[in-house]
Amino acid sequence: MRYAELFLSNTMLGTAMTSSLDSTSCASCGAPINEASSTLPTERNPCPSCGSIARSFGVHIQETLVIREKIGMKQERPGYRKPIYESVSGDDLHRDTGQWNKLTREIDRENNRYKEVITNPHNGEVLRHCEEPLTDHFGRGSAKPKPSNGS
Ligand SMILES: [Zn+2]
Repeated sequence: MRYAELFLSNTMLGTAMTSSLDSTSCASCGAPINEASSTLPTERNPCPSCGSIARSFGVHIQETLVIREKIGMKQERPGYRKPIYESVSGDDLHRDTGQWNKLTREIDRENNRYKEVITNPHNGEVLRHCEEPLTDHFGRGSAKPKPSNGS
């Protein structure tokens, strides 16, 4: 009986806010006035409806919610110390560029397979594609020195 676990990690929320000053109206009667918001009070023309020079400015604020997340899966099997299958996919922050990329990583210990694909979410460009036997992937590092004849 296999045991599979689904996990969600690295969920981050951020907001991007943009505001624009985009309407001018009379503060007394509310009539829209075609006048730049930067116009000095002394240079304003009286409101065509009521003659007031008081103005009210409308500010539109737009807020965008940004969600970054990573979803992963682990499959364990009794008798194995490590999960026989792991996968992660989601948003990945590239530290050097500060850019968010899409990451998919699979570790399949049963079939000795390692796969990692990183793409640019804006244009779909593949930034990194690595697919190799798991033993090669981890054998390359410092964890497992190459077997040698004592030299
Ligand atoms: Zn007015």
